[in-house]
Amino acid sequence: MTRPLQITVLGATGSIGLSTLDVIARHPERYGVYALTGFSRIAELRSLCVRHRPDYAVVGDETQAAILQQQLQSDGVPTRVLTGEGGLCEVAAHPEVDVVMAAIVGAAGLKPTLAAVKAGKRVLLANKEALVMSGALFMQALRDSSAVLLPIDSEHNAIFQCLPSGYAQGLGAVGVRRILLTASGGPFRDIAPQLLPEVTPEQACAHPNWSMGRKISVDSASMMNKGLELIEACWLFDARPQQVEVVIHPQSVIHSMVDYVDGSVLAQLGNPDMRTPIAHALAWPERIDSGVSALDLLQIGRLDFQAPDDLRFPCLRLARQAAESGGTAPAMLNAANEVAVDAFLNRRIRFTEIASIIDDVLNREAVVATACLEDVLAADRQARNGANTWLSRHGR
Ligand code: NAD
Ligand code: MG
Repeated sequence: MTRPLQITVLGATGSIGLSTLDVIARHPERYGVYALTGFSRIAELRSLCVRHRPDYAVVGDETQAAILQQQLQSDGVPTRVLTGEGGLCEVAAHPEVDVVMAAIVGAAGLKPTLAAVKAGKRVLLANKEALVMSGALFMQALRDSSAVLLPIDSEHNAIFQCLPSGYAQGLGAVGVRRILLTASGGPFRDIAPQLLPEVTPEQACAHPNWSMGRKISVDSASMMNKGLELIEACWLFDARPQQVEVVIHPQSVIHSMVDYVDGSVLAQLGNPDMRTPIAHALAWPERIDSGVSALDLLQIGRLDFQAPDDLRFPCLRLARQAAESGGTAPAMLNAANEVAVDAFLNRRIRFTEIASIIDDVLNREAVVATACLEDVLAADRQARNGANTWLSRHGR
């Protein structure tokens, strides 16, 4: 009997983190929890430590760490508490770790995810922003290490499942014509465009099909999520932006498709529950139970498709432009979006101003090549400054 695989869950207190722990707990003979990390909701992290008894927990600062360490001691849990980015990178790269779930939201996940790649782990990538920011460097680090990267984003996990194993030779070599990236269209798919400036964070976070963290929920509502996913798909599958087509599919049952030159289209279907791609990536190339119920197509009845509306969703167009520009453009797009989404969630700007901010930043800042990680981090800082300047210029 082999020992259970040791797993670090970066972002354990989030939506993906909790779904990951749900799947892991169904298979104690296969998986053990090495480390859990959280940035807020520390009470939740404490109960996760009591339940899963990891070797390490990582929190944001020393004060949180001291409190949590004392609480865990009184709970009789031997978990050691570490702090900050150093702690995150340590538990992502530790020799005892086999698998790292990268489920921190946003640019904060970049360094720990890269640390896991460089240390040769099996990396389960939910944190799409990390790859969008640093695409070329990230993929180079992957080629230079023995790491295995498996996509958790449901669309990319679906595409991965629909591609033959030799796809790394190039999509053309395996007969792929296009990737069809499906999108639910989010909560504002059918709203009258003139009402969009008035929508609230609560409305934006009420996704019709998926229950997710607040940042990705707003991204889904603006369709920036699909834009980030387009860039993610280009890196993961070595596709050109023009080879990735976005199709609105309101039921979120088909998670994406691959169109081959002979006219075959392969799709992966399932209930919209992230435990399916998580279980797939954890066990690949095997299959394990995820706790997700069987798909009932008769209950669903119909599958609809429509083209995305560029006027309603300018973020998708901005992301496609950034994908085509390359270099630091995707990192700037991502950073400006993070600042703008945060401002929207804090009611400082209107929903439609998210796109205005990103557009403004991308128009002002020059795109350069990314030779090293510092180039990416500098572009990230520059775009955050640009977005904050927009906010002060507009008195927000
Ligand atoms: P979430 O907001 O629910 O959780 C985010 C996690 O990251 C939390 O554990 C939080 O404590 C941690 N975190 C936040 N800021 C941090 C910081 N500065 N430093 C360290 N840790 C920090 O988000 P989520 O919905 O679970 O999404 C996580 C990632 O997965 C995102 O990149 C998202 O795009 C991606 N993703 C999510 C879903 C989904 O269904 N939720 C689907 C596909 C992809
Ligand atoms: Mg997705």
